[in-house]
Amino acid sequence: MKGWWRKLAKVDLGDRKVQFEEIDKDILVDYIGGRGLGGRLLYEEIKSTKDPLDENVLVFTRGPLTGTMVPTSGRFSVSTISPLTGTILDSNVGGFFGKHFSSAGIDALVLKGKSEVPVVLKVDNGVVTVEETDLWGKTVSEALDSLNGASAVIGPAGENLVRFANVVTDDDRVFGRGGVGAVMGSKNLKGLSVKGDKKVEIDDQELLKNYLKKAISKIESSPVTSRGLRKFGTPILVNLLDWLGMFPLENFQRVKDERVDNLSGETMKDEIVEGHYRCHACPIRCGLKTKTDKMKGKGPEYESVWALGANLGIFDLKKTTEANYLCNELGLDTITTGGTIASAMEMFEKGVWDETDGFGSDVTELIKVIAYREEAGDELAEGSKRLCERYNCDYSMSVKGMELPAYDPRGAAGQALSFATSNRGGCHLRGYMIGEEIFGVPKLFDRFNTSGKAEVVKRSQERNAYLDSLIVCKFSSFALSEEYYSRFLEAVTGVDYTVGELHKIGERIYNLERMFNVSNGFSRGDDRLPERFNEPLIKGASSGNVFDMEKMLDDYYEAMGWDREGRPTEKKLEKLNLGFMV
Ligand code: SF4
Repeated sequence: MKGWWRKLAKVDLGDRKVQFEEIDKDILVDYIGGRGLGGRLLYEEIKSTKDPLDENVLVFTRGPLTGTMVPTSGRFSVSTISPLTGTILDSNVGGFFGKHFSSAGIDALVLKGKSEVPVVLKVDNGVVTVEETDLWGKTVSEALDSLNGASAVIGPAGENLVRFANVVTDDDRVFGRGGVGAVMGSKNLKGLSVKGDKKVEIDDQELLKNYLKKAISKIESSPVTSRGLRKFGTPILVNLLDWLGMFPLENFQRVKDERVDNLSGETMKDEIVEGHYRCHACPIRCGLKTKTDKMKGKGPEYESVWALGANLGIFDLKKTTEANYLCNELGLDTITTGGTIASAMEMFEKGVWDETDGFGSDVTELIKVIAYREEAGDELAEGSKRLCERYNCDYSMSVKGMELPAYDPRGAAGQALSFATSNRGGCHLRGYMIGEEIFGVPKLFDRFNTSGKAEVVKRSQERNAYLDSLIVCKFSSFALSEEYYSRFLEAVTGVDYTVGELHKIGERIYNLERMFNVSNGFSRGDDRLPERFNEPLIKGASSGNVFDMEKMLDDYYEAMGWDREGRPTEKKLEKLNLGFMV
């Protein structure tokens, strides 16, 4: 079995002891790596916690393809319990960090306990050390400048336990959503740096070469990967989603505004883009290097230009771009930062809370006070759900406490169901139905039709769970059929995986995560969209439409083999080799 090192390092940050263990072969075959392996190892270490910022574990994982030349395979993953949602959380990052971690000869790092003083963790060719640091208090770029090797750090937001703090790598990619940065901050862990010179072993070079050649040609001939994403980055979606009446404005209160084009990929290209960048082994190159009159940086991505722009009633591209730079410098998740400020702006406009201004006002100072938990920032740092619960209003556009991304669920039935049933909360990356319901990849389904959608959502969630375990970028799947991933995995590891087996692995991972959440008190009542989405939109191509979510949930639970409360049945768990969770 090649591709894996079969080695994990367990680190107790309290006494700085490091222990190495061999990872069981069957676990690697059954969970692959990344999100799957991370969730499985996390479950061995911690099953629940009263406070994710007091007692928690971080599991960093690579996949067997990480560090090879398989397209988009440079990603790296972390699993933990989210301080924002209380659910299981995984997050994966692009760039080159994963490639460097892979060359250190370890598949997983399990971090437990808490250091008394600020530390950084170093991995050098399989040697793991914990060292005291004077980087506490530094912003992201200041901290990264002081570390050698490929690095990932938290900013002030993570240090101040903002529940949606990110971890940022030295190539400006982030472990986003759900607050991994706050968990690192709670352990006094400022950052990680990794290096090594080991090469991932490949089982069948010829098979790999053959599929690499075919895959590159597919990526070059797909209009999405070779033109849309490459030329305009992810903001290519702005005008498309606006045209579909699904680009939300001002906390999902409305859609359609002629100023939306100010934030589009096309306008970005004309006004702020000065170059492109890519992650390891990626021919797509969707990253955008940008500049405003005052600053230079990377992004914003589609979700960020929406979250810090249209969702806040701000249609000034340069202001939104600078807000994005600031979030990255302070280590804040852009979607939740924007979603939380949007809730607060609606609270202001409706006379519930007056600590912010209304839509369209400048957010620079607000972003800073959130990261440092000063003044009103202290309450905003808890996220929109806690903020709205405190002031007894329902302006939090979140699922399970995680703020929704830039797709109005009233415009796509499958995406609505996928948001509601996502294991980490309001996230588009667990099941990305925009592929099936908008792009027709792998097959087009009517976006307003609810019939049969449960099965399509189930397959999308399974696919994303195994892609997150390989770990590859989901954008590659706009060009590549699932057969490619099974052949890549076979070529690297020597284990013969069919597409059906990959889906079974995805299903196993989804059920493991679901059981983790069920045993922590989550149930059918948590698989819900905010009340706002029971009212139809009054403008645009998605107007007049709401979905019968209860019926879709019934269909979905049945397709998943779960009971009416959304609990995986014993039979289902046994069938997926998850009997140990019964
Ligand atoms: S498509 Fe973009 S995000 Fe995905 S691996 Fe390539 S450069 Fe990175």
